[in-house]
Amino acid sequence: MRREGESLSKRDSCFICKKPFASFCNSHTIPQFVLRNIAVDGNVHRPSIFLNPQDRQSTVGIKGTNTFRVLCSDCDSRYFKGYENPERYSNVPTGEILAQIALKNFISRHAKRIKQQGLAQSMMNYSGASSRIFSDTEDVHKLDISEYEQQYEYARNAVEKGWSDRYYLQLSIQLDYVVPIAFQDAIALAVGFDQCKINDLRNLSPKYRVQELHICIFPLKSNSQVFAFTRNDDKRYRSFFKELRLLDTKEQLQVINYLVLAHSEEVFFSPKLDNKVFGNPSLKDVVSKTMVIDVPSTYPWINQETGEELVLEAFTCNHAFQTTCLLSAEFALH
Ligand SMILES: [Zn+2]
Repeated sequence: MRREGESLSKRDSCFICKKPFASFCNSHTIPQFVLRNIAVDGNVHRPSIFLNPQDRQSTVGIKGTNTFRVLCSDCDSRYFKGYENPERYSNVPTGEILAQIALKNFISRHAKRIKQQGLAQSMMNYSGASSRIFSDTEDVHKLDISEYEQQYEYARNAVEKGWSDRYYLQLSIQLDYVVPIAFQDAIALAVGFDQCKINDLRNLSPKYRVQELHICIFPLKSNSQVFAFTRNDDKRYRSFFKELRLLDTKEQLQVINYLVLAHSEEVFFSPKLDNKVFGNPSLKDVVSKTMVIDVPSTYPWINQETGEELVLEAFTCNHAFQTTCLLSAEFALH
């Protein structure tokens, strides 16, 4: 069934240039040169290692982390030249690099949703019934896909035209040690500090555009870059970052650590970390939250009444300060 789902979602032309494929390119979101700095024998751990440390599926080769195949190799090398070059991270990332990262994030998101839609379709074919669950899920997928297409157009324009002011660097921290985590994705925050709302993730109106926060944690050869950015016309994060910038670097890292662990399954951990870390209860607790976050967007009917309170309470950034921070110097690889 999975195979049928995948074949339903397979492309025969490049997502960017639309030329028919001679061959697919295996595109990565987190650059390989970043993952290599935390890998052991070419492997890294997924967040599921915190839920079940014995599970072999929690370890993945860096060639298979967060990959997608919708671009031709010409576009893959042409559009992302700047951000996939390790030389470009000796300083604060430029607007050009931010646009390339945003473009990659949304192509990857789009590819994933199309794949999920194909899988949902084949499940519907398989069960022979058009149940409410499948049709609701399909509506949400369609909405997400159209949002990602708009975000993609915005980012592609910025990259093609060389506009460096389309994204705003909200936070940038350079660390003189190598952190044991790698991350690159866009996440949609529902809540900042206290109960301050940012996005209403239950709003399924096509007119409501969710504003995404891009976060990158890039461990390099002997240092690390941690940064966060939004579109320059996204205003919902304004007071969140105002508060975040008032904190000291240690606390800002606690918040970034918390945000990526609580919101994404696409964060990767170094097997060089002490095994005790993977049994840490505060990390297990925060990693389990990704299961809650998928509820409002994927299964909206579950959450109609109690959803908002649950999300605000579960995800408020105040929890960051009780969570072990893997970005602190204590966990540095070197
Ligand atoms: Zn192409």
